Amino acid sequence: MRSAKLVTAWLAAFLLVPVLVIGQPEVPVEQWTGKTILLVGAHPDDDAGRYGTLSLLQENGNEVYVLLLTTGNVGTKDPTMTRDRLSKIRRQEELNALAELGIPADHYINLGYTDGMVEFADKEEVVQRLVWHYRKIKPDVLFSWDPGHGYVRWHKTDHRAASYLSVDAARAAEWRLIFPAQIIHEGLEAHAIPEYMFYGGVEKDINTWVDITGHEEKKIKARSQHISQMSAAWNNYTGPSPDDLKPEDRKKFLERMKKIPMRDGKPMEGFRYYKGAPDGIGSGRK
Ligand SMILES: [Zn+2]
Repeated sequence: MRSAKLVTAWLAAFLLVPVLVIGQPEVPVEQWTGKTILLVGAHPDDDAGRYGTLSLLQENGNEVYVLLLTTGNVGTKDPTMTRDRLSKIRRQEELNALAELGIPADHYINLGYTDGMVEFADKEEVVQRLVWHYRKIKPDVLFSWDPGHGYVRWHKTDHRAASYLSVDAARAAEWRLIFPAQIIHEGLEAHAIPEYMFYGGVEKDINTWVDITGHEEKKIKARSQHISQMSAAWNNYTGPSPDDLKPEDRKKFLERMKKIPMRDGKPMEGFRYYKGAPDGIGSGRK
C-alpha cells in the first residue's frame, strides 16, 4: 500500500515537472553567458523597464544590442520643442542609459522612423531592414514587445507595430529565399532566432521572472537618463541633467526612478519566454 502511494507520488512528480517548467528557459536567465541578445523596441526608453536584465546579461559576458524603430521625436508636451531637437536629445539619453549598463554605443541601432508613425511606414521595408540586422547580428535571443499569445495584444501605436514586425522579421530572416539579395550580394546568411523574451505582455502570460538583485543601481541610473520622458521636462525641457529641473521636480523625478517592481521581496523583471519557430510565437504551435 505504502509503495503504491510512493509510485503515485513519483508519477505525480514526473507528470507535474514538465508542466511546471513549460515556458521556462532550460538555463535560468541569471546564468546565461556567451549569448547574443537583441532587444527591439519602438522608442528610446522602451528598454527602460528591462534595464536590470540587460545589465545582468551584459555583466555576465553576453553581447547585448538594442535596435529601436523610431527616434522618439514626437514624445513631448513642451510647446517649444522641435522634432529635430528631440530626436537628438533622445538619442543621447539612450546612449547615456546604455553606457550606464556597459553596453557599447556601436551596439545601438536606430532605424530613424518618425515617432507615432511606424504603422504607416512601408511594412515590407521595415521588415527587410530588421531582417538585415538579424542576419548581421545573429541573435540567440530576441527581446521584443509581446504580440500576444492566443489573442491579439493591444499596445499603443508603434509598440503594436514593433511587436508584430519584429516577429515577422524573425520569421523572414530564417528563409534564405526571402530578401535573397542580402545573402547573394551582401554576404549575409539566413538566421533562425531560437529563443524569445517578450515584454509588455499580459501578467498571466509572464512565465519567466529575472532576479535583478545587484543591478538595481544600474537600472535606476540608466532609467534616469530618459529625463525628457520621465520628469517635468516632459512639459518643459530645461536640460539633460536632473539639476536642470526645479528642486521639487528633481525630488519627484529621483523618487520615481528609485521605484523598482518587487516580487517575493526581490527586484524582478517579468517576461514571456518562448523557444521555437516564430510561427508558434502567438499560438504555441511549433
Ligand atoms: Zn515606447
